[in-house]
Amino acid sequence: MEKVRANILVRGIVQGVGFRPYIHKQITGLGLSGWIRNDSRGVELELEGDRSAVDRLLLTLKNDPPRLALIESAETRFYPDLRGYEGFRIIPSRTLGMRSTLISPDTGICADCLRELFDPGDRRFRYPFINCTNCGPRFTIIRDVPYDRPNTTMAPFAMCPQCAAEYGDISDRRYHAQPDCCGVCGPRLFYLDGDGRPTEGDALANALACIHAGGIVAVKGLGGIHLACRSDESAVVDELRRRKHRDAKPFALMCRDLAAAERYCVVSEAEAQQLRNRSRPIVLLEKREPGSLAHISENGWLGVMLPYTPVHHLLLSDGPDTLVMTSANLSDMPILYKNDEAIRALHGIADGFLLNDRDIETRCDDSLLWVVDDKPYFVRRSRGYVPHPITVAHAGEDLLAAGAEQKASFTLFKGAHAFPSQHIGDLKNLETFEAYERQIDHFQRLFDVQPRRIVCDLHPDYLSTAYAEERAAREELELLRVQHHHAHMAACMADNGLEGECIGVIWDGTGLGPDGTIWGGEFLTGGYGEYSRPAAIRALRLPGGDKAVREPWRLGVALLTDAGLSGAELFDPVRTAAVETLLRGGLNCPVSSSVGRLFDGVSAILGLADTASYEGQGAVRLEAAAAPGIHAVYPYEIRREDGMLRFDYREMIRAIVFGRREGVPAGELAAGFMNTLVAMAAETVCRLREDTGLDRVVLSGGSFQNIYMLRRLTEELRRRDFAVFRHCAVSANDEGLSLGQGLIASRGGEKYVPCHSA
Ligand code: ZN
Ligand code: ZN
Ligand code: FE
Repeated sequence: MEKVRANILVRGIVQGVGFRPYIHKQITGLGLSGWIRNDSRGVELELEGDRSAVDRLLLTLKNDPPRLALIESAETRFYPDLRGYEGFRIIPSRTLGMRSTLISPDTGICADCLRELFDPGDRRFRYPFINCTNCGPRFTIIRDVPYDRPNTTMAPFAMCPQCAAEYGDISDRRYHAQPDCCGVCGPRLFYLDGDGRPTEGDALANALACIHAGGIVAVKGLGGIHLACRSDESAVVDELRRRKHRDAKPFALMCRDLAAAERYCVVSEAEAQQLRNRSRPIVLLEKREPGSLAHISENGWLGVMLPYTPVHHLLLSDGPDTLVMTSANLSDMPILYKNDEAIRALHGIADGFLLNDRDIETRCDDSLLWVVDDKPYFVRRSRGYVPHPITVAHAGEDLLAAGAEQKASFTLFKGAHAFPSQHIGDLKNLETFEAYERQIDHFQRLFDVQPRRIVCDLHPDYLSTAYAEERAAREELELLRVQHHHAHMAACMADNGLEGECIGVIWDGTGLGPDGTIWGGEFLTGGYGEYSRPAAIRALRLPGGDKAVREPWRLGVALLTDAGLSGAELFDPVRTAAVETLLRGGLNCPVSSSVGRLFDGVSAILGLADTASYEGQGAVRLEAAAAPGIHAVYPYEIRREDGMLRFDYREMIRAIVFGRREGVPAGELAAGFMNTLVAMAAETVCRLREDTGLDRVVLSGGSFQNIYMLRRLTEELRRRDFAVFRHCAVSANDEGLSLGQGLIASRGGEKYVPCHSA
């Protein structure tokens, strides 16, 4: 047997995830000896023994790593000379110049801890903060690196002798588990009444009594505070809407288990897998009965998650098997995460508070995704995923990509790692903007990133642009600006590891074009550097500007007027006359080639959304209304204008209005409208392939949160032999934009090549 000495450097998420005890266990079985230590690059180990044993270890490392580890690489060097190590030792950590270790996201409770939680013989029986190296809080409790208890919000809790013994025992599941604690030494659950006064008795029982009686209880979780209430009584849910000032936006449900979720929804094997995923996202599932639970979600989808903290498990095992769980925030404000703030802000909203004395350092909303073709498709990538990096083809200087505005996020780039932030929210809200600034600082500290360049959107009025400008000026950093839809396209390319050139179908609400007009229904060609806009949808007018976003009926009138029809046929004559006057005068009627606004206008024409309580509501209702199995496509034209192709939808609008007159159900018309968009897109993309020879297509922008269109367009394009790419790791909406901004900047910025009369 050949004896060797092997030195292995493992990079990735390998600290704070039980890596050393895991190695210890493997080594003992394989008869190897040597040492292991953490350093700022990851974990280094040196082993002596049979070559075959070392190979076996490397294989196990690859195929069966510790639950929370993310192994990026294991560089192995073999040496012929032996040092004669005896046994296996953990040697002190070493810090090398820069820090570059990664941090694990927060994860749901593991099976072992769950068993202990419900085991009357276990010393942590029903202890609401049970965790181990394989589960529990991480990112949300970390104040600074290295990830050691004093650098977390667990610092004030001194371990009892029993916990300390586990912590120090390499054969224990809690060896070096920084948040390790128990009922003797750890955080405590408590329950306050609606006025924030302490209550007598068991906290959990009190909270459940309140929920049972139809009350709304604030429940502190991992990344923030939820409002929880019964899901089975619409009066209770309506009251929650009234208190939260939330009209129509759907709420999420937390279900005790899969069986509870399956009562309301159809759950595929892939969806079940996502639900059970340790990241515990909210998964958007199709309702069994499209019209059911309308008080929770007015559309055909239901956002469902399974319990992920011990407190959730206790609540749902003692109480009802399904609860409404929604972020505790006031309209556009960020999610509440501090006890005292929550008690103040939720006065009159929550009837009770189920809180604890472990602080949340970093707020992090629940993640939200669909499962499309058995793979996750994010709306919001946040808790459970952040701060996992995404590997990108970029090795330049440290870089900050500032994102957009309404669905703000940022991404920091360091070497081949991109660190997208969690969901941040709408920057127009002052508190959200402050959270954005703080979060950038926090990420820079955690990942030791010192941006030399900042990249932002072309839009001068975005608050992320203002931040980037101010900071670039103050720190004398290079500032780059990139076009919104080009950034979406680059984000989808980066998300799929694409290089070179491709065609982008980029559809969303709004983004400023380099020509000074508002874009949003774009066909782009190019790569990270140069790009062109060879096709777009016909620009529509937005009577009243921003007002038209909240009042889609205005867009309905504009579309009818444009198609040579009278708005008064479908809308209130008095309001219509006022908007028609506005359109004739042309004042305060900006034009936009936005697919999002086209959706709004058509949903108004279909009588689905006169006004919108959140952006894109019209589009959501239209998709929900669409009847299945409709293949009709309405007439349309693709016209060549000024060297570019324009989708002229006026004929389609006339057909839809004609259908309404004839009494065709709105659901059929809604499906026909989306089919027409899909047919137009497929035809346009084919014409672009003829011109350019490009046959790879990326789909991005918020409008591709329409799963009906996403699926149909993907199908149509694949049938025509295109390679079709959609987002996988980041969202298609503006939240995913910063990834693309960064890639564009890392290649030296963008160049817009206008399409002139060809
Ligand atoms: Zn655990
Ligand atoms: Zn303890
Ligand atoms: Fe966008």
